[in-house]
Amino acid sequence: MTSLAACSTGKSGPTLSVDAARLRAIAAAFPVAGQETIPLDAAVGRVTANPVKAASALPPFDNSAMDGYALRLSDLTGDGPWNLPVSARIAAGDGRGLSLSNGSAARIFTGAPLPLGADAVVMQEQVTCSGDTIKLMQRPRPGQNIRCVGEDVAQGALAMATGLMLSPPRLALLAGCGVAYVAVRPRVRVAVLSTGNELVEAGHALGAGQIYNSNRVLLRATLSRLPWVELTDLGILRDDPTRIRTAIRHAAQSHDVVISSGGVSAGEEDHILDALRAEAAELDVLKVAIRPGKPLTVGRLGGALYFGLPGNPYAAAITFSQIAQPALRRVAGLMDASDTWLPAVAGFSYRRTTGRREYVPVTWAGRDPMGRPLVERLGYGASASLSPIAQAMGIAVIPADLAEIHPGQSLQVEPLFE
Ligand code: AMP
Ligand code: MG
Repeated sequence: MTSLAACSTGKSGPTLSVDAARLRAIAAAFPVAGQETIPLDAAVGRVTANPVKAASALPPFDNSAMDGYALRLSDLTGDGPWNLPVSARIAAGDGRGLSLSNGSAARIFTGAPLPLGADAVVMQEQVTCSGDTIKLMQRPRPGQNIRCVGEDVAQGALAMATGLMLSPPRLALLAGCGVAYVAVRPRVRVAVLSTGNELVEAGHALGAGQIYNSNRVLLRATLSRLPWVELTDLGILRDDPTRIRTAIRHAAQSHDVVISSGGVSAGEEDHILDALRAEAAELDVLKVAIRPGKPLTVGRLGGALYFGLPGNPYAAAITFSQIAQPALRRVAGLMDASDTWLPAVAGFSYRRTTGRREYVPVTWAGRDPMGRPLVERLGYGASASLSPIAQAMGIAVIPADLAEIHPGQSLQVEPLFE
C-alpha cells in the first residue's frame, strides 16, 4: 500500500495498468464483518457467510423418475417377454413404506417412494397391460429410472460454499436440502456523492454555466441492482475544500464504501485528493492507463474503502465497472470472480494512440460465420458523451498496446445487460 508520504510527492504519481489498479483496489477491500441469519425468501442476492450443509439428503429417499412400474430384476428369469402381476399402487407422497411382493410389479408415479426390493422402473410406455398384469419385452438396466437417495446432495454434505451470491437456483437447492434459514454477510453500506459547483438535479431549472447531474443517477441505478448493497445518497457537494473534507470524513465513519464523482484531476477546483490526503487516507491508486477515466483514486479512508471516480459520466461508468465493482464484490464477501466478456469481431476500423486500455461502446451488427457477434463502434470515445453508452449493447476492450483495429479482428466485448 502506498503511504501518505509517498502519495504526497505529487499528483502525478505512477500510472497503473487497469489490471494492476484493479488488483490494488481488490487488495484494499476487506469483507464486511459479521453475519445475519435470514429466511430463504429474504435471501435472494445475498452472500453466504458460512458453508451451508444439507439438513436432509436430496432426494431424501429412493424414488421413481417416471410414471411406470417398479420391479425386481431377479424376477425376470429366462428370456422375455415377461409377465408380472401388479401388486401395489404407489403415488407421490405415499408414506406406507411398502415392500415389493415377490414376482410382482408395483404401479408407480414420478416422485413416489420406490418399494423396498425394487431395483428398476420401467416407463409405462414400454409395457402392455392386460387386466392387472403387465408385459415387458426388454430387460431394464439395474437402477433404471430410479433417483437414489442423496444422489444430488448427500445428507450433511456441503450444499453451498462461503462467498456465493444466492441466486434463485441456489436458493432452490438449499430449500431442497431442508435448509430454511441461511447466514449471510451484512449488506455493504455504500455512500455516493457528486462534486461540482456546476451540477443541478434534473427537474430543476438550469442556470448559466450549469449542467444536470448524470453521475448520481448513474451510480444509484447501478448500485441498486446489487442486492448486497445498502445505499446512502449524499447528493451534490460544492467544490469547497472544507465541506468536502468534512463530508467524506463523516461518510467514511458510517459506511463501508464511499464513492464520489468529480474533483479527482489535478485542477485547482479538484479538491477530492487534497481532502483525502488531509484526512490521512491511504491512497493505493491515483492514475490508471485507462481511456476513458485516467484520473481515478482508490484508497482507504478510516475504515472505509474510497473510490474517487472521474466526473465525466462515461469515465465514471467505466472506472466503476472495471475497478470499483470488483473491489466492491470483495467487500460484500463474494469469492467468485465475475468474468463476463465474450469473443466478438470488429466491423470497424480504428487507429489510436497506444498506452491506455480503451473501452469503446459498440452495438451488435450480426454475426460472423463462427457465430461470434460482429460489432460496430458507437461515438468517438469522448468521455463526456452519454449517447454512445446509452445505445451500446456492449463495450469493446482495446488492449493498451494495440495501435489499429481493422474489420474482422477479434475483440473482447463486455456485454451490457439491460
Ligand atoms: P471533474 O472531474 O470534476 O473535473 O469533472 C470533469 C467533467 O465532468 C466536467 O466537465 C464536469 O462538469 C463533468 N461532471 C462532473 N460531475 C458530473 C456529474 N455528476 N454529472 C455530469 N457531469 C459531471
Ligand atoms: Mg468538478
